Amino acid sequence: MTLAPEALGPTVTVGEILVEIMATTVGEGFLAPQTLIGPFPSGAPAIFIDQVARIGGACGIVAVVGNDDFGRLNVGRLKTDGVDVSAVAVSADKPTGSAFVRYRTDGSRDFVYNIKHSAAGEVTTTEAAQALFSRAGHVHVMGSAFAIAGLWSILVEAVSIVKARGGSVSFDPNIRKELVQGGDGRKLIDDMIAVTDLLLPSGDELLVAAGETTEAAAVERLLDLGVGEIVLKRGSEGSTHFSKAFGRVDCAAFRVEEIDPTGAGDCFGAAYLTSRRAGLPPQSALLYANAAGARTVTKQGPMEGVSSKAELDQFIAAAGREEQA
Ligand code: ATP
Ligand code: MG
Repeated sequence: MTLAPEALGPTVTVGEILVEIMATTVGEGFLAPQTLIGPFPSGAPAIFIDQVARIGGACGIVAVVGNDDFGRLNVGRLKTDGVDVSAVAVSADKPTGSAFVRYRTDGSRDFVYNIKHSAAGEVTTTEAAQALFSRAGHVHVMGSAFAIAGLWSILVEAVSIVKARGGSVSFDPNIRKELVQGGDGRKLIDDMIAVTDLLLPSGDELLVAAGETTEAAAVERLLDLGVGEIVLKRGSEGSTHFSKAFGRVDCAAFRVEEIDPTGAGDCFGAAYLTSRRAGLPPQSALLYANAAGARTVTKQGPMEGVSSKAELDQFIAAAGREEQA
């Protein structure tokens, strides 16, 4: 199916609102006192929805924060940037979720998380959430929602409400392989793929999502299953769109210095989806998405590199790429 136009209603997502606190030095873990910087607003669904708003899309998020400064910091940012936060609840007794992060020399990361047992683990269907779903035009699903009990079923509910009114679904299967191998995980992914209009995998998530071993076979299988478009994220190699309607469309990455890759995939997906819902063809949507991903990696802090439409236009023009749009 095609993506629902903007006019049908806002893009909504469900998931964790967090803060991130980062080590200021590269190295292993947190076994010694060290200098930290933060809190930065974070959480993949929050980053995604903030980028939807900044590029000009109507949007909202269903989430829970604590009655504390971490929650106020993040929700304040979302609100300022134009996200509908009417379905963000405040937990009576749990703190806002957090993640402490330190990069190792090889680029991998050490984490100390407080998510499952934080306010983020308490998401339930509220009246405000139902109200948001019933006027939404699109639902974005994060594979990472698997990790939080109860979240997946709310997403499934959101999908059925929004689909029933002619809306569309995007799915970022940012999911660990180990989660898929069990029978349950596989079925949940297959069920989500069956209702997905836009799939946003990176790396071998494409193969995992399709249960295939080559890119070509995976693309063919997913398009045959009814996925309208697949957009493969390739990090510093750019991105590729696949669909029956437009075939294969490649878009080269922008050359930037990578400071902090966290959030690139979420900003990319948000910029692509919002551009397509606004009526742009895949090639232009990819250009905006690559620009949004590239700008994100140049900024420290997961949500600090989120871009407005004007910033993206300026960035694309400065790189001499606007003629491809
Ligand atoms: P995440 O690390 O947030 O999970 P992801 O793996 O889902 O992200 P990536 O492929 O890493 O997604 O990044 C998304 C997009 O951002 C890429 O397709 C590319 O357009 C852009 N991007 C990411 N890293 C770079 C980079 N180093 N240089 C230029 N562009 C980049
Ligand atoms: Mg990546």
